[in-house]
Amino acid sequence: MSAGAAPPNDARSAQLYKRALEVLPGGVNSPVRAMRAMGRDPLFIKEASGAEMTDADGNVFIDYVCSWGPQVLGHAHPQVVEAVIEAARRGTSYGAPTEAEIQLAELVVERVPSAEMVRLVSSGTEAAMTALRLARSATGRERVIKFAGAYHGHVDGLLADAGSGLATQGIPASPGVTAAQAAATTVVGWNDREQFDAAAEECGNDLAAVIAEPIPANMGLVPPDPGFLELLRERCDQLGALLILDEVITGFRVASGGAQELTGVGADLTMLGKVLGGGLPLAAVAGRRTVMELLAPAGKTYQAGTLSGNPLATAAGIATLEQLTPDAYLRLASTTERLADGLRQQARSAGVAVQVRSACGLLTVFFSNEPVRNYDDARSADAQRYACFFTEMLARGVYLPPSPFEAWFPSLAHTDRQIDRTLEAAGEAFASCARI
Ligand code: PMP
Repeated sequence: MSAGAAPPNDARSAQLYKRALEVLPGGVNSPVRAMRAMGRDPLFIKEASGAEMTDADGNVFIDYVCSWGPQVLGHAHPQVVEAVIEAARRGTSYGAPTEAEIQLAELVVERVPSAEMVRLVSSGTEAAMTALRLARSATGRERVIKFAGAYHGHVDGLLADAGSGLATQGIPASPGVTAAQAAATTVVGWNDREQFDAAAEECGNDLAAVIAEPIPANMGLVPPDPGFLELLRERCDQLGALLILDEVITGFRVASGGAQELTGVGADLTMLGKVLGGGLPLAAVAGRRTVMELLAPAGKTYQAGTLSGNPLATAAGIATLEQLTPDAYLRLASTTERLADGLRQQARSAGVAVQVRSACGLLTVFFSNEPVRNYDDARSADAQRYACFFTEMLARGVYLPPSPFEAWFPSLAHTDRQIDRTLEAAGEAFASCARI
């Protein structure tokens, strides 16, 4: 590796992108893959194994996107691949119940403190839709409070001031959302106790739910201030509203029982996804029996899915959770800390001001002098310097999230040697970007 590293040869990716633009809007099937905010076109991926990903031109990268979270064991983990192949041999979908669905639900109930029952769905977006519908059905109310910079999938009513791809592209609210859907949602600043209290008071007995990522990771990683989650829990209880904790990213990643295990603040409804499906399309809503049994066919609140609890996805999920032992979490936490500490040191040596925020298996480097406690702070970090850093890291074989508003996803497959190589590259990248 040298200073002034050349960008990867992307001739084949460029050809594929041109072809993709003809048939896929924007050339991709999910906006943040496009890399537009980084000032370049996407790289098309051919294969991946462990912590490494190979693109269509044969460039090999140390991957910190890891499918945006599902690949906590690294890519193509042998036990997961084996489980999926075995399942596929027995048939890929039946539209009738299987034992694996019960097994996976039992694992969720064992691990997630507030979960007594589980409904499996196919994406985090569906989990959010189902959780909202359940909360409204359980309370007979409509209004919802969400936080600025949080992302809960592309559910109509939750796109206002959302993080992730909307933050990356600067989309404050999406066209196509009806006024009625938007009006039912009140957006509050993360970690802003006063604004939250005012909104809760204003909603009063019309409040169906507060929905939050307990450790938000879609405006970059911005953990809760001490006492903030406790405040949400307390107000929900006072008002008879449900607390929906969106653990689609944090579930089975920051700890075996997710953020709820770490913080001790439990949810009425928990959204899960990503790690739960081990890289296949699977997500879930979990919660108390009394609320969950409102769902059809136990109750009248409707929700369904042709591929819900799909046999390949449940096989991948079970195989993934089996690997996630207490020792695995110790290793993941130590890998993350080594990376976070090293990045702080490298930035300091290069004279670049950064705020590195981390939790087990998650971290974000904000190019900012000031602490980052909310979406406004995240937006005032230097996005141009992040784009420079991203580009310099890519040139040195490290694939970071193509957005300053996302978390990095270190995995159990990242070796000490790969972390060292990442830090060496970061030292050079920070130095190259110090002067822009
Ligand atoms: N909630 C959170 C916290 C997420 O990060 C995401 C996706 N990044 C979602 C929900 C939506 O999940 P999906 O993309 O599977 O619909």
